[in-house]
Amino acid sequence: MLEDRCHVCNSTVTMPANQLQAGPGGKGIAYLKHCMSCGEDLCKGSTLSTGEAFSLISVMERTLMANGLAVLRALLEGYLFRDTAEKKLPLSTLCRLDQQLLLPNQENWLTVAILRGRLLQRIRRRATERQASRGEHTEATQGDEAVGEH
Ligand SMILES: [Zn+2]
Repeated sequence: MLEDRCHVCNSTVTMPANQLQAGPGGKGIAYLKHCMSCGEDLCKGSTLSTGEAFSLISVMERTLMANGLAVLRALLEGYLFRDTAEKKLPLSTLCRLDQQLLLPNQENWLTVAILRGRLLQRIRRRATERQASRGEHTEATQGDEAVGEH
């Protein structure tokens, strides 16, 4: 899963970039896998697997992702299909779909940070359920209610 931010300096991962003037002090970085701000190897950070990510998204979010892929294909082909109809529709149809909120065109609508928050919430919920099934009583820790609220 592609990360949105550097795990060290929290800079937004940007591409393409000028590698010659990137990194600490603008001295350049050797590889595109390095953060353009601090030069850290982005592969060394913990990542959310694709399987985990897909288990954390809703049916509507899956639909939006599929629609986003379909938009890219429509832009490539110059037309689109709706549902299972065989009639080619003009690209202007995308505007109507956008008005119906069927396209994922809002910035940061589903970030890795949001998914991590949901994963943390799931882990905490399962731990609470396990403790409850064993008859243990737990009190919510401060900040639990803020997890995953974006
Ligand atoms: Zn960085």
